[in-house]
Amino acid sequence: MRASVAFVFIHALSLSVTGFFIVRRGYKQQRSIGVVGVRRRYSLSTAQSQQHPSSSLSSLTTNDGKHGVNNTATALDEIIELQQEQRRTALSIPMDELSVILGGTGRARLAWDCYVNGADPQYLFGAISSGSDSSDEYDEYKDKEFLKRQVLPTPRLTQPLGTVALNKLSTLHSHCNNNSIENGVATLIQISSSVDGTTKLLLRLVDGLEVETVLIPFYSTHVAAVVDTINTNYTNTNQKISPPLGRTTICVSSQVGCLQGCTFCATGKMGKLRSLTADEILVQLFYAKKIVRLSTPTDITTDDGGGSSNCVVLGTSISPLPKISNVVFMGMGEPSDNAIAVRTAIDIMTRNDLFQLSASRVTVSTVAPTPQAFAQFGNSKCVLAWSVHAANDTLRRRLVPTTKYSMVELRQGLIHTLQHRTYRTVMIEVTLIHNINDSVIEANEMAEFLLHITNSVPGSKLACNLIPYNDIGSMMSGYSKPPLERIIAYQNRLQEYGIQAHVRGTRGDDEMAACGQLVTNRAKRKYNEIIVREEQR
Ligand code: SF4
Repeated sequence: MRASVAFVFIHALSLSVTGFFIVRRGYKQQRSIGVVGVRRRYSLSTAQSQQHPSSSLSSLTTNDGKHGVNNTATALDEIIELQQEQRRTALSIPMDELSVILGGTGRARLAWDCYVNGADPQYLFGAISSGSDSSDEYDEYKDKEFLKRQVLPTPRLTQPLGTVALNKLSTLHSHCNNNSIENGVATLIQISSSVDGTTKLLLRLVDGLEVETVLIPFYSTHVAAVVDTINTNYTNTNQKISPPLGRTTICVSSQVGCLQGCTFCATGKMGKLRSLTADEILVQLFYAKKIVRLSTPTDITTDDGGGSSNCVVLGTSISPLPKISNVVFMGMGEPSDNAIAVRTAIDIMTRNDLFQLSASRVTVSTVAPTPQAFAQFGNSKCVLAWSVHAANDTLRRRLVPTTKYSMVELRQGLIHTLQHRTYRTVMIEVTLIHNINDSVIEANEMAEFLLHITNSVPGSKLACNLIPYNDIGSMMSGYSKPPLERIIAYQNRLQEYGIQAHVRGTRGDDEMAACGQLVTNRAKRKYNEIIVREEQR
């Protein structure tokens, strides 16, 4: 018992020390940017540049009004220095800005051809090694010609990214490990994959903290048929292999841990360790793109034939995955607690010359800690989603104990934001827990609560996702998944009120399916090890 108390004390102490350093580092960073700004007489605030990724060039003007060659070179060096101080990498720098840094649009295009396909141009064009485990197909940089055919469009296949551009990228990334994005911003350390194709990636950040990203494929035909077709094509040499039809949605994290402490959520148990930077959010999409590409090579040029379509990454066999078309911010963390970085990441994801995701396919899901949480994303190119869970205040506080506002106040925040938005579709998320919030009484309350939104916002559309609580590998006691008939009864009641309601199937049942569970189970194992060690003393 004393050992457990000691562990809790040590854990609390270590969290507060970590928090202190994170806060202190952020403070130091702000100060140093402020000093740089004064020294160079530039008008650029950190918030401005993070909120609008392209703003650092446009608002970067010298007061002396000279535009000579030397001034340009100096200004470029200083842009790079400023980006480093803000810990930005090329992943969060738009094409026009990167063109200036690398000295040409062609160079920036080559770099972005790589990023959007989950490849690091510094490994592809440079001499540095990825350092990956070469025992499986993950060390793709061994065959650079094959990789170039995969990631570069035909007109740019023979274009090199020269030493000058690579050196600029290295300088820009000098705050990362290896001066690079892959293994520099984050390293892929673990993959788990389930029979339905759901694939979880565990990424280790430079400070050793870990986040997870989940790839959820929706196949047009059954996954087994997809694998069969691709395997058959593999037996025919020089065959073009098409990626499987369908789409993959990726669930990204915005923080390590979460402050909101929802009582049904594994991540909530961790508390918030820190927020992710925009680059750390975007690197999740980068790795997801890489895994999708590796899972189905589109161009088979080997002549041995008879291979297998399933690729092996870090010892895990991965089924072919369809193209990524949707991103949801539903992983670890509350996006509105890290709004600037999330907005920057959304901007990069939806730009036509970068990741090219449609704004209607990027969804930001907030639990809404305050009524203003929605407005933080009012101008972003994304769909808003509200994790409501319960319409009555008492039950809502039980599920989301950090709720400080009434449900009516929070709803008013959403209505206000929707009224000022052109895109007025809103998703409602309800995690259904057996005998907690899954009765028809709660369904009635929810329906009446939601109808007020569509009645108040002309032209608004609302869809409700019912998510049965996933109790597989759950660390929460007392919560379980409702029986199917209760889920259907809840859904029917919403539909009787004219509300579109869908039941979201639980994916990846054979693995830990809820977001945050890869990390939290590792964390739990680590904590258990510490407890055992303490008890043995
Ligand atoms: S459900 Fe979302 S907001 Fe709630 S604790 Fe988990 S990650 Fe945070």
